Amino acid sequence: MAYRTIIEPFRIHSVAPLRMTTEAQRREAVKAAGYNLFGLHSDDVLIDLLTDSGTGAMSRDQWAAIQHGDESYAGSPSFEIFRSAVQELFPFAHVIPTHQGRAAEKILFTALGGTGRVIPSNTHFDTTRANIEYSGAEAVDLVIAEGRDPVSRHPFKGNMDTARLDAFLTQNAGRVPVVMLTLTNNSGGGQPVSLENIRETSAVCHRHGVPLFLDACRFAENAWFIREREPGQGEREVSDIVRDMARLADGMTMSAKKDPMGNIGGWLALNDDALAEQCRALLILTEGFPTYGGLAGRDLEALAQGLKEVVDHDYLRYRIRSTAYLGEALAKAGIPVLQPIGGHAVYLDAKAFLPHIPPLQYPGQALAVALYEAGGVRGCEIGTVMFGRHPDGSETPATMELVRLAIPRRTYTQSHIDYVIEVCGEVARRAPTLSGYRISHEPKQLRHFTARFEPLA
Ligand SMILES: *Cc1c(COP(=O)(O)O)cnc(C)c1O
Repeated sequence: MAYRTIIEPFRIHSVAPLRMTTEAQRREAVKAAGYNLFGLHSDDVLIDLLTDSGTGAMSRDQWAAIQHGDESYAGSPSFEIFRSAVQELFPFAHVIPTHQGRAAEKILFTALGGTGRVIPSNTHFDTTRANIEYSGAEAVDLVIAEGRDPVSRHPFKGNMDTARLDAFLTQNAGRVPVVMLTLTNNSGGGQPVSLENIRETSAVCHRHGVPLFLDACRFAENAWFIREREPGQGEREVSDIVRDMARLADGMTMSAKKDPMGNIGGWLALNDDALAEQCRALLILTEGFPTYGGLAGRDLEALAQGLKEVVDHDYLRYRIRSTAYLGEALAKAGIPVLQPIGGHAVYLDAKAFLPHIPPLQYPGQALAVALYEAGGVRGCEIGTVMFGRHPDGSETPATMELVRLAIPRRTYTQSHIDYVIEVCGEVARRAPTLSGYRISHEPKQLRHFTARFEPLA
């Protein structure tokens, strides 16, 4: 008997309270935060879907692993345990622990970036792009055309446009130090990249003598999609698919706050000995000694255990299905969501949701604020606020205006998600009355984190 309901494959072991708030309290709180949801106190948030980064629940076995942490400055056995867990899935010669993904990016692009260089990806994540641009290099997105179309049902919308990549590498010969591939494609809707596309991208890169690095934050979710959607992959172990993905690349950057189930952590892994030596020297400058990087021994232990748990098929089936549950319910209620539903998040299409608000009045921001005011649900704008400002000071609309509802791992139950569905329905009813925003203050880099807004009208 195959039952319809896919249950959470865990029992709750420890709980944290949610503080109930009224709409009036939330209107006050968000106004005081300059209408920037990053500025809220999290006590004022009921269901926090701002990010799935570092917000998941660790398992009993991860908490137990924390007790094994060895805090020796050099040569800690916790590092060996961490490194072998990483290499079990990603057999790169060098594993360099960092405090999060962006620290790995900073080190890699300090070594490889610089003025005059260009670094293509399917789509760069915001911190990746910012670290590339900070080095003086240019970040270029070459995702397939379907990846930029919110209604296309392509099964692998994260795929690299390999024909464009090939032409790009010819035109920019000598200027491209590395090609990145983001798995899954976070900024493009949490969409997966097929194994076939990773293989083609790898072949194109290597034909041009350029290394390929994976931004592999959601490697397990990506591998699950490959298993479910790619011909010939349906019977395979996810860990085998992950190893195939890794063997096609020359290195990786990683945020361990995503699929490795950590609350903090990251790493840089690679095969090139000389580059690894250069990266370790940079690591010592800002992160720490190479056997702990930016982490405590206990964090390394928790991540090693998390890496074992995330490739479990029961977990991944539940994870991908529960994200789809939210997305399908919203679509059924007539709410425009990016299709197909991604792995870690549901993306509301704010352009379709609020067609009366022009891009430079930030429809995604307007929608995100409305969801918070109506129900205390915190999502994240991924649109013109995040991507509209360029290093030369100009501002243009982003390709898509999205609000991401990211699902923390193993944290919320189905009734929490049913509540989110209700809140989205209420905001849909209010949509015609919502207005746009203007930015009253913004920093030079990564403005979405600290900008302040004022409502128009
Ligand atoms: C989160 C993320 C990063 C950055 O990692 P942090 O740990 O937040 O610094 C890089 N790339 C992608 C795709 C991400 O999702």
